[in-house]
Amino acid sequence: RMSAHPDYEVVIGLEVHVHLRTRSKLFSTAGVSYGDPPNHHTTPVCLALPGALPVLNAKAVELAVRAGVATNCTIHPTSIFARKNYFYPDLPKGYQISQFEEPLCTEGWIEIETESGGPKRIRLTRIHMEEDAGKSLHDGSADQSRIDLNRAGVPLVEIVSEPDLRSAEEAGAYLRKLHSILRTTGVSDADMEKGQFRCDANVSLRKHGATELGTRREIKNVNSFRFVEAAIEAEIDYQADLLDSGGEVRQATVGYDAEQDRLFLMRLKENADDYRYFPDPDLIPLVISQERIDTIRAELPELPDARCHRFEEDHGLAAADAVKLVGTGALADFFETAVAAGAEPKTAANWLTRDVLAWLNEHQRELAEVALDPAGFAALIGLVDAGRLTAKSGRDLLSELLAEGGDPERLMQERGLEAVSDSGALEAMADEVLAAEPKAIASFKDGDAKAVNFLMGKVMKQSQGKADPAQVRKILIAKLEAL
Ligand code: ADP
Ligand code: MG
Repeated sequence: RMSAHPDYEVVIGLEVHVHLRTRSKLFSTAGVSYGDPPNHHTTPVCLALPGALPVLNAKAVELAVRAGVATNCTIHPTSIFARKNYFYPDLPKGYQISQFEEPLCTEGWIEIETESGGPKRIRLTRIHMEEDAGKSLHDGSADQSRIDLNRAGVPLVEIVSEPDLRSAEEAGAYLRKLHSILRTTGVSDADMEKGQFRCDANVSLRKHGATELGTRREIKNVNSFRFVEAAIEAEIDYQADLLDSGGEVRQATVGYDAEQDRLFLMRLKENADDYRYFPDPDLIPLVISQERIDTIRAELPELPDARCHRFEEDHGLAAADAVKLVGTGALADFFETAVAAGAEPKTAANWLTRDVLAWLNEHQRELAEVALDPAGFAALIGLVDAGRLTAKSGRDLLSELLAEGGDPERLMQERGLEAVSDSGALEAMADEVLAAEPKAIASFKDGDAKAVNFLMGKVMKQSQGKADPAQVRKILIAKLEAL
């Protein structure tokens, strides 16, 4: 779907909820863990038992500050935890602890690449800390819902953008960049399938040149980059059609059904929600010294933009390859270690962004789980570069090494994969094939260039894939022309 509604300017602001990478919850010692049986990670604080008091997790504060400095925010030495009051079964306290009037971080920005090529700054309104709610499970019998409080109290930051995004593509670029920053700085694992990185998209339209914002609808909790873009496209179509036919957008919260590529209404939002926010009397103000903030800033690892730039400058990589390597951080670390171990950078980048990524996708594995270390990888692509392994044999060995590890050189010998580069052996194979294929020789003489490919296939087969195809072609053509 590609929305084209030239009469309107699209306006989008995103709210992103990100789980901080801590071992325990924001205000209790309960562990943060995914996929365990329900209600195995709870303490009296998570359960809101009478008299239980919250104690703030210092690691969560550090990671929230890190998120702020990585996105060019002002970090406030004092911020306030407030109670956001509402009733829901998965919220036993009856309120969520969040920051409202005095958040930890404000006025940041990140840069995205736009379709027109240039970079564009997207402003961040704020980043505040809060706790996640539990989960209601509606998957049992029809007349029952169950509550799982493992997630209740998991530390989050909410990252709110200004309404600076102007298309679904820009929203996607913003989310990918933010995701990459948070992962490479270790703020969050940001695994979207585990709900560690969730996005609400606010979308409105207005006539070009209008200064006031149009009425927005908010698309809740879409869990992949691609689906956020698709949901926004669907929303733009919906609002444009409505406005075109003289209708008015009503402020609402909607959901997105990815399977049917359809939006559905969740609730109309005629009035502002009233959460009766007030400072939580159980918690003192969060005070961080300027010194602590400066230390966190100084210890910030290299950010994705800078790292891409360095890869382009130092290793001559194409921008697109650099972006692919740097995306999550892990691939870029592997790349740098392999290059330090002697791998040719461009070749290493090619193999990583193409073959290794494809293998990881196919096998649903993380790079950290593979059995091949960067030095082994460097040795493997070195064998291909030196012509001792054909590219095809190299790829076959790569799969085996990623799955089971081992020494590339020894494995090559064990498997008898060393390339046949001995031209005497190749000439003999070519002679044998030519003797058996008089028809192909005749076709070649009649000007059918494809006959060479056919003959090459035969020689490659004889060599069991170990011959260098370019060398075989050269030998065959020389022989054919001499016939
Ligand atoms: P809430 O959704 O909790 O009421 P805000 O009103 O602060 O919070 O807005 C949340 C997000 O919606 C922000 O990212 C903001 O940029 C965006 N936003 C606000 N108004 C509009 C609008 N008219 N069109 C598009 N986005 C908007
Ligand atoms: Mg909102």
